[in-house]
Amino acid sequence: MHLQGGFEMMEIISPPGIRAQVGVIGGSGLYEAGILSNPVEVKVNTPYGEPSDYITVGEVAGVKVAFLPRHGKGHRYPPHMVNYRANIWALKALGVKWVISVSAVGSLREEMKPGDIVLPEQFIDMTKGRKYTFFDGPVTVHVSMADPFCKHLVDELYNSAVKLGYRVHRGATYVCIEGPRFSTRAESRVWRDVFKADIIGMTLVPEVNLACEAELCYATLATVTDYDVWAEHPVTAAEVARVMEENTEKARKVLYDVIPRLAGSPDESRCSCCRALQNAIQ
Ligand SMILES: [Zn+2]
Repeated sequence: MHLQGGFEMMEIISPPGIRAQVGVIGGSGLYEAGILSNPVEVKVNTPYGEPSDYITVGEVAGVKVAFLPRHGKGHRYPPHMVNYRANIWALKALGVKWVISVSAVGSLREEMKPGDIVLPEQFIDMTKGRKYTFFDGPVTVHVSMADPFCKHLVDELYNSAVKLGYRVHRGATYVCIEGPRFSTRAESRVWRDVFKADIIGMTLVPEVNLACEAELCYATLATVTDYDVWAEHPVTAAEVARVMEENTEKARKVLYDVIPRLAGSPDESRCSCCRALQNAIQ
């Protein structure tokens, strides 16, 4: 397998021959897919080190799916310590074409309530010191981030959420902060009132950049856990835990519904993800 520009992808997979079409990266609360039949665990090593955990490869309605918990089982890696390059590399090495990134987020909008599903279509990067690219030289790559998410995949996730009767918002802007601390009240008001962002999280960047460099169709299935601190709406840990549990179940149902429709390759008239490196290499 090669990325364009002579960038060779090493495959070091055990056991060999395991392949998947769809990759799911589980966020906080989603540490096991729970929807895969015939699951096997595979360990994938990459030139960037180890992914967050073993990858579970199984099937949903005959479609091969690779599931990776972003933070590792038991939430071992906080957002700033996740090996995003290894995670995306490992999914690419397994043959994945589509990546659904499941993410728990805070809301910056009254109408995006705890329990709602949000499908971002833009992001603002406020992270500070991560590994943002596979290309550290001599090959230099400037990928376009004008439309960072796969429209084809966002459409399909939206259709599934609507069909299942969930409250869902698309066209949102996700502000990604460095963490692991939460925002101050002043920061939260900046994200909301100045940046006009809609949801806030700590893990989208650089996952989305790297997926683009790997020419994968990538979309985020975000679920709102609570209002960010701007709302002055204190919540108890028990309330947050209850919402997260319900959100995890919703995410599983959306995944179960959407994955069978991702059996084929992306429709190139609906997205250009698999051509992201064209004209991007210098
Ligand atoms: Zn796409």
